[in-house]
Amino acid sequence: MTVTRFAPSPTGYLHIGGLRTALFSWLTARHNNGKFLLRIEDTDMARNSEEAKDAILKAFEWVGMSHDGEVVYQSKRFDLYKKYIDQLLEEGKAYKCYMTKEELDALREEQMAKKERTRYDGRYRDFTGTPPEGVDPVIRIKAPQEGTISFVDGVKGAMNIAANEVDDFIIARSDGSPTYNFVVAIDDALMGLTDVIRGDDHLYNTPKQIVVYNALGFKIPNFYHVAMINNEQGKKLSKRDGATDVMEYKALGFLPEALLNFLVRLGWSHGDQEIFSVEEMIELFDPKDINKSASNYNLDKLLWLNAHYIKNKSNSELAELLKPFGVDISEHDKLEMLLDATKERGKTLVELAEQIKLILTAPTDYDEKAVKKAFKGEAKEILTDFIAMLQTWEKPLHLPVDYHEVMEKIVAEKEIGFGKIGMPLRVSLLGSMTGAGMDEVMAIIGVDETIDRIERAVS
Ligand code: GLU
Repeated sequence: MTVTRFAPSPTGYLHIGGLRTALFSWLTARHNNGKFLLRIEDTDMARNSEEAKDAILKAFEWVGMSHDGEVVYQSKRFDLYKKYIDQLLEEGKAYKCYMTKEELDALREEQMAKKERTRYDGRYRDFTGTPPEGVDPVIRIKAPQEGTISFVDGVKGAMNIAANEVDDFIIARSDGSPTYNFVVAIDDALMGLTDVIRGDDHLYNTPKQIVVYNALGFKIPNFYHVAMINNEQGKKLSKRDGATDVMEYKALGFLPEALLNFLVRLGWSHGDQEIFSVEEMIELFDPKDINKSASNYNLDKLLWLNAHYIKNKSNSELAELLKPFGVDISEHDKLEMLLDATKERGKTLVELAEQIKLILTAPTDYDEKAVKKAFKGEAKEILTDFIAMLQTWEKPLHLPVDYHEVMEKIVAEKEIGFGKIGMPLRVSLLGSMTGAGMDEVMAIIGVDETIDRIERAVS
């Protein structure tokens, strides 16, 4: 069975790059009816925080990426790691190294002076003498000294790393705490990972982890190292490029399905298809199709996708989604009309909420430029006649088409273009030149409010 995972370090919010690799792992698991596990890599006590962990879990909940089984916390597994350290020591596959910090620094300087790669020189590998006093040893693993460490990366292809590039690295510090690459390999093995999908910033951790797998006789999983997401200029994506925290997208009014659709296309493609529902992603995703090259963040595309998903939501769903954005229209009797009139005008829920507020709240001030442009010539007279026409209209005034008829009539009677009534009417009702269609706005606010707003504007 396919088993994948996401293994964030809870040192900050969930970055969209992290969510993208998590998505690839999740899709791989779901596509294969496998399992997607979550492991919190919280061994770095100084940099971890409970809030960061909660923020990560919250972000997962928001996008609807469910994980299987219990969340695994590395901080609760120290006894387990200790057991493997002892086992390796016993089997002679790891050893205690008594080198002091000063000695290590001296070695490093010496190597640097000779322009050599800095590496531990293995001086305690076969040490049998009496240990120096007062030094708490670290534990180092015996890495292969010759040959190559090879693996086939599902994205990068064949990777061959000369064994001498990996030294006998530390698996437990002098205080006994295990190190990063050691615990990651153990956890991935014990959690039964078949496919490890992660950012390519971890590519050069993999040979070290393979040393651990081999020493402990664990089966090596498939690795996929995914290239980074760059900004629109092709440089590393950073805070300066806008939102990088997943939850910020929620606050900005993006829908999770739009964000996931956006992210799945950063580094993966299926022909030239751009729109993928989550079901489709699950059906089509194969980590073998992950692109080799880095992908570029593109805000316009995200906005375009978000507009698409907003447009396709039902009105009642949208009414719920809009609540956190200060618009509660779930009980509004013109709910359908209101959303039909606006939902193609908001690329985000924030914009959509603004469009709705624009209609529901009578303008208190008017865009000066718009007033100048719209209230030229006989605009006031036309509007006054329009009010009269509304007041004496004998047919029902409920739907946008009903109001359209009134507009048509005034245009015909006065032999004017639609703009001559449309522009001043728009400014009167909404305060500016933007927003939904006039027929719709009038049908939503009703005839009394329409007349009120026009009267206030012309007075
Ligand atoms: N904890 C690592 C990180 O947040 C990920 C480790 C891995 O995926 O192997 O970057």
